[in-house]
Amino acid sequence: MSINASNIRLADIQKARERISQAVHRTPVAPSSALSKMAGTPIFLKLESQQLTGSFKVRGATNAVLNLNEAERARGVVGVSTGNHGRGLAYAASQAGIRCIICMSELVPQNKIDGIRAHGAQVRIVGNSQDDAQEEVDRLVNGDGMIMLPPFDHFDIITGQGTLGLELLEQMPELGTVMIPVSGGGLISGVAAALKARKPDIKVIGVSMERGAAMHKSLEAGKPVMVEEVATLADSLGGGIGLDNEFTFRMVRELVDEFVLVSEQEIAEAIRHAYWYERLILEGSGSVGIAALLAGKVANEAPLAIIASGGNIDMELHHRIICGENVDVTQR
Ligand SMILES: *Cc1c(COP(=O)(O)O)cnc(C)c1O
Repeated sequence: MSINASNIRLADIQKARERISQAVHRTPVAPSSALSKMAGTPIFLKLESQQLTGSFKVRGATNAVLNLNEAERARGVVGVSTGNHGRGLAYAASQAGIRCIICMSELVPQNKIDGIRAHGAQVRIVGNSQDDAQEEVDRLVNGDGMIMLPPFDHFDIITGQGTLGLELLEQMPELGTVMIPVSGGGLISGVAAALKARKPDIKVIGVSMERGAAMHKSLEAGKPVMVEEVATLADSLGGGIGLDNEFTFRMVRELVDEFVLVSEQEIAEAIRHAYWYERLILEGSGSVGIAALLAGKVANEAPLAIIASGGNIDMELHHRIICGENVDVTQR
């Protein structure tokens, strides 16, 4: 297997690490006694839910923002995101003292808008679809000269997310297998590139939800394909990978050893497990690795680390799930 074929090298990820190390947290790796007991082998959780802004996305966003030159900084950055990329980018830009506009449609719930505003970005509400929001971004880029920073398919975003891999291996040199949530594949591409450059026999397992897993569908098709966007508890894993995908499709195809899909029920079970047994508040997307393990969908290859990628869940929804209510977001 060639780990250089996608033109992202270990040295690039190391450079990203130097760039962002003072700006983001080094998150803890916690042994899970409950999961270890159940699996019969040591299981560890990498707690990116405790990262600044509540997810790993701030790593890539910070790396991209800090890598802008003086002229680009003056122009400001723009993104389309209702979720964790929006938060991460808003935070990174405000820390760097540069202008940031996040565009979203009228359909986005107020709590998500507030979440992004709270990190210092200007939120621009346009039209009632993602396409309308994208049109506004194009206007800001082509008309006003702002810099668009996408959530996953971008060199600096991928190398920024990859810093998590370097950190994890330092904290856990014995690492054998890692389970990583996948949407557009920026996280798993960066982390797998870092890990495999350092320790080629590490097994990398991607995890997505059964409903609307664009990367998985694209791997099956042998090329990037569209999927219908449907409601899921793993809301940060929805959306496409881009038909003109430049980096992540190729990298996932080369670097990921196995792919697992989990059901809505299994995700809810994992959110419950995280709360009652690990004392962690995880969003659905951050708990798919635990879901796959609990469901017995991966072989117990120790020592295993699960990336708990984020914790930004609506607390009312979380409350209902941990109280055992059979929450079905797919009916909405
Ligand atoms: C964005 C996100 C992911 C998936 O990351 P990709 O780089 O798009 O694959 C996983 N978990 C959380 C919490 C996220 O916000």
